[in-house]
Amino acid sequence: MFDTRPERDAEVVLLGRSNVGKSTLMRQITGHTFDTGRKPGVTREPNHYDWAPEDFVITDLPGFGFMSGVSDDVQDDIKTAIVRYLETYADNILCGVVVLDGKAAVDIIDRHSGPDEVPHAVEMFGFLRELGIPAVLAVNKMDKVDNRDERLDAICERFGLLPPWKQWEGETLAPIVAKTGRIDTLNEAVRHHLHAAKRDDLFKFF
Ligand code: GDP
Repeated sequence: MFDTRPERDAEVVLLGRSNVGKSTLMRQITGHTFDTGRKPGVTREPNHYDWAPEDFVITDLPGFGFMSGVSDDVQDDIKTAIVRYLETYADNILCGVVVLDGKAAVDIIDRHSGPDEVPHAVEMFGFLRELGIPAVLAVNKMDKVDNRDERLDAICERFGLLPPWKQWEGETLAPIVAKTGRIDTLNEAVRHHLHAAKRDDLFKFF
């Protein structure tokens, strides 16, 4: 699985459950619409986008977690492939963006938290950090959230980030509305990590 990566040095990846708005975000960043396959919202292979002269690729990794019409086995395979991909390209990946649905994330996370269960998004966020990949939480669909501060603080808590959320903005947490292109906070956070990697030349993409 996942042997589609173009030969590029630097990379930024997007991760998240299906339906959080990753394709929408990818479209905002690249200006390109991706064919996500037979079933809307179900992407089984990464979508890579690379710009001709640049040694850089942005990758939308397949959604994980429950996807209707996709068997548990396939979902496990997808998750394993994502983990392998991150391990293999950890040195190239300058930033990993975990995309959440701001309205649904806390409920989903709490439903999947237990003695032997870690919610996928929390696991992936931790895994990125373990691999030394700077991780950003992009909290999408903020247009549907009324109690913004409360919600963002609750999300921080779930990911082991000490509230108040404001202190993580610009680096680790980015409330966005991908649908309308309100993604400045995400661009700022990604740029922060590109700058830390001495790759200010890639700012033009974010
Ligand atoms: P993906 O499965 O993660 O790639 O999700 P999509 O990009 O296909 O989006 C899933 C649904 O969420 C679509 O109906 C989008 O229009 C919607 N969506 C995406 N971003 C936003 C947003 O910022 N606000 C709202 N309200 N809906 C959004």
